Amino acid sequence: MTAKRLHWHGTPVPYITAWSAEAAPQPRVVRRTTGAGEGIGFEDEDPRTDRRYGVLWIRSTLAPGRGKPEFLLANPLRQRRAMEHSLCQVCSRPTIGTRADGRTLFLLGGARPITEGETTTAPPVHQTCARLAVEHCPPLGRGFAVALVERATLYGIAGVIYDPETLAPLPRTEARPGELAHVDIASAASRWTLASFTVVSLHGVTAVGSDALRRFPVP
Ligand SMILES: [Zn+2]
Repeated sequence: MTAKRLHWHGTPVPYITAWSAEAAPQPRVVRRTTGAGEGIGFEDEDPRTDRRYGVLWIRSTLAPGRGKPEFLLANPLRQRRAMEHSLCQVCSRPTIGTRADGRTLFLLGGARPITEGETTTAPPVHQTCARLAVEHCPPLGRGFAVALVERATLYGIAGVIYDPETLAPLPRTEARPGELAHVDIASAASRWTLASFTVVSLHGVTAVGSDALRRFPVP
């Protein structure tokens, strides 16, 4: 299933972009012990919807097209779906099988090149969709990096880590400018993290220059 392409005053809105009507009330965070050990939970937690990979997940709703698009934010549910099914973050169609060499394109904000093993919350993207995003997405005007990737594997989650002693959110550490802390799914810290996004690690990385992005196809 693919979503209808949405626009805002003539500007195409990427599939994973959050809309203002999608914000949901967040319950109080409490201390909870699960099979994996002690960590955080919600006071009215439903493990079927509030946890993924055993980790507590921020609450969100799906109402694309309602309210205003929040171009700097991703909807947690659509971001996760895009990562789990390798869907394009812009158009929501599959990226697997769209290139003869089997590789996938990734587009990240920030001018620093994408490195081998880098972790990211950005789902993959088609080349034509990457060009569209670079043209229309204001944050990417401050710099972006593109790479072809052989494998993207689940690394963990991006979220806010809570202090195991006080249950207060720890000071924010950023993975890339504006990105939440990336936490390894196998680490003890994941039990103390309120996750917003799925994080993958990128392997078999070949950087693509911005000039090459504008040619089609990228060799
Ligand atoms: Zn696309």
